[in-house]
Amino acid sequence: MLLAALTTAALAFTVNQTDDGRELRWIELPVLVAYDGAEAPANLTEAQQLEALQGAMEAWSHLDESALALEFGEPEPFDAQEAGSVSWERGWQGNAEAVARITSWATESGVLLGYEIVLNADLDWSTDGAEGAWDLQGALTHELGHAIGLGHNDSDDEATMFPTAREGELLKRDLAWDDEDAARYLYPVGGTAAALLPALGCTTSPMNPTYLVALLPLALLRRRSAAAATR
Ligand SMILES: [Zn+2]
Repeated sequence: MLLAALTTAALAFTVNQTDDGRELRWIELPVLVAYDGAEAPANLTEAQQLEALQGAMEAWSHLDESALALEFGEPEPFDAQEAGSVSWERGWQGNAEAVARITSWATESGVLLGYEIVLNADLDWSTDGAEGAWDLQGALTHELGHAIGLGHNDSDDEATMFPTAREGELLKRDLAWDDEDAARYLYPVGGTAAALLPALGCTTSPMNPTYLVALLPLALLRRRSAAAATR
């Protein structure tokens, strides 16, 4: 019992859940990522954008003891929604403090069906850690963490899933041990579909989204540096 208690206390990652408390996860891998750079900031080349996205996808893919993998692709659309997309928004309609937002769709049993990541194109972005600009790869690594079912880790400020970031910060590009543990927990080797079957017994078709997961508009909070605040 003591060991179990210690182990639980050491877990800092969180998994998003349905209202009924069912953990969200994909049962079909790889998770596909479609990219639309039409409204991307002009200072980023298409090659830079795609390299940042690829780096973010690779961070979560092929981890030891995890079956999780993300790949570029055009997912099968359901209704009007793409099953997994990353795009930009000029004239940001989301929370003014957020650098990105994600909406996810899942069945009532917690099977993830789709997600839409939208990046705030009104902010300054970079792919090289420039001061005063948001790191695209780090932001995408964080948002893709949500896309695979993770919530925030509020206790480890070096974790990819820590809820806030600073301009110029590159920490979120590399998964912390806790982020990797989360991926192993949701996507163990051997596949998740078999493990989930008992919970799927009474659900509607996976292609029939019946549950709108809570929006996560505060995906990354802006936090001004001391230097910037004095100007
Ligand atoms: Zn977040």
